[in-house]
Amino acid sequence: MKLSNYYMPTLREVPSDAEIASHQLLLRGGMIRKSATGIYTYLPLGYRVIRKIEAIVREEMERAGSLEILMSALQPKEIWEQSGRWSVYGPEMFKLKDRNQREFCLGPTAEEYFTSLVKDEVRSYKQLPLNIYQIQTKYRDEKRPRFGLNRAREFSMKDAYTFDTNEETMVKSYENMYQAYERIFDRLHLDYRIVLGDSGAMGGSSSHEFIALSETGEGVICFTKDGKFAATDEKAPVYYQAPPEEDAKSLEKVETPKLSTIEDISSYLKVDKKRCAKAVDLLIDQEPTIVFIPGDRELNVIKLAAYAQVPEHAIEKMDDETIVACGSYPGFTGPMDLKDTRIIIDSSLTHINNLVVGANEADYHYINACYGRDFEGEVAEDLLTIQAGDKTEDGEDLLFRRGIEVGNIFQLGTKYSEALHATYLDENGKEQFFYMGSYGVGITRTVTAIVEQNHDDHGIIWPLDLAPYQVIITIVQTKDQDQVDLGEKIYNDLEDKGIQVLLDDRKERAGVKFNDRDLIGIPLRITVGKKASEGIVEYSTRKEMENKDLPVEEALSEILTICQK
Ligand code: ATP
Ligand code: MG
Repeated sequence: MKLSNYYMPTLREVPSDAEIASHQLLLRGGMIRKSATGIYTYLPLGYRVIRKIEAIVREEMERAGSLEILMSALQPKEIWEQSGRWSVYGPEMFKLKDRNQREFCLGPTAEEYFTSLVKDEVRSYKQLPLNIYQIQTKYRDEKRPRFGLNRAREFSMKDAYTFDTNEETMVKSYENMYQAYERIFDRLHLDYRIVLGDSGAMGGSSSHEFIALSETGEGVICFTKDGKFAATDEKAPVYYQAPPEEDAKSLEKVETPKLSTIEDISSYLKVDKKRCAKAVDLLIDQEPTIVFIPGDRELNVIKLAAYAQVPEHAIEKMDDETIVACGSYPGFTGPMDLKDTRIIIDSSLTHINNLVVGANEADYHYINACYGRDFEGEVAEDLLTIQAGDKTEDGEDLLFRRGIEVGNIFQLGTKYSEALHATYLDENGKEQFFYMGSYGVGITRTVTAIVEQNHDDHGIIWPLDLAPYQVIITIVQTKDQDQVDLGEKIYNDLEDKGIQVLLDDRKERAGVKFNDRDLIGIPLRITVGKKASEGIVEYSTRKEMENKDLPVEEALSEILTICQK
């Protein structure tokens, strides 16, 4: 393609709402454009990258025995009601009505839809196992759309679903997809880790997440040095190190004027933060609930949602009025004498004597409170967010890194088949529920992960097989006919050899062309300049950016060798 006739609206300025490198560079490189919050248009260069990623995903899915289909983005309400997710999915789901008032959603995922398809078509165990997938636009009205394609409201996802006759073969299908995912993300040149995931709204038993390492990632993962243990911070179990044991002392109420933070209380009373119970005032499904955890920790809302068996969005902050109605006072909440309030206590606190707890009145705390003797409540095993310094169950150190979740696989068991009454007939003619798995790859999010891992101050550095084009030829001076002729000749030669090539024949200053070339990150480059008449060009790679003068033929053969590897 010739850039003189291309649609590549590069920007010199960094768009003000783009916070991370990939978002900035994809916008600046003229690869995407925002059309509304979290909704993007993929422009020619960007769309070529997406199609290359799709091609790799398709190849590996086919290799794994998965069959591509395409279902509608519009899904009927009924199937979501059957699974219970019409309400569970919450405000993230885009809902709409047709002219007859029939309700639909724009699919955020498609477990129900695929189950309903297979339910009507697959009748016999002889037709199983089945592995089908689609690459389809998904819609989620994210609470905080940001980072461009990374957390969008409309995005492309590859979603696959497996159907098996029993748990054992379901696990086999899962392992098969696990390996396909390893091949996919290897081929996408991502530096990633596979971690135990949270099953969250999907339900089911086991899940793994594929996390591309990046400091800009929204997720945190922790792992042991040998990689044997790896989990997201949403899922990682916390083995809390309690403070030294103490004999129980007698409960005492103390004045703590205006001291409502753990920090203040701990330093004022000279009590280790671990002994200061932190109260988190919440509404769970509208029910006033106070959760108590050690003062040096953060509550893990996902663990709490799993414990309370509610979706995450059913957990909200409690307002001050309700705190007062519970018989407490904001900032001074404790577990004693609360009215009509659910009390959930992280199990770690039940092993720590002499706690500091709020006295449920302004400016007062109790010291030396002990679980069982002074207060009680529901005890939840582990509601804590993992943090630096924590260790595994065996006392091994944990490393922490940030990352971008690019893929997620789930063992679903019979959750959806039971909910949708999706059965097949077994060898004995008996109806059985399908054992299912579901498997997602964020196609468009992957683009952001690739750019996060492959860029420098000048722009994107695409890996060769993901780049929108493999080669760019820059004609330095379009008024110089020798340069134009040679540029076009090289362009035609490369095109003839099946190389994907851009010819920058724009009537722009050389500096503009060089900057654009660095920005859009085409891996292999030829500059046709002053020495064109001698048949000499400059050759460089985007990664190294070191120009060397080469006779045209040598430059061409260098490029062919690299591209045909
Ligand atoms: P997250 O925790 O980041 O919200 P998720 O757990 O909701 O992700 P899944 O439901 O497992 O994501 O979706 C499968 C894949 O789709 C994810 O691994 C991710 O790559 C991609 N994805 C999910 N939400 C978005 C989004 N808002 N924008 C772009 N890609 C997304
Ligand atoms: Mg999500």
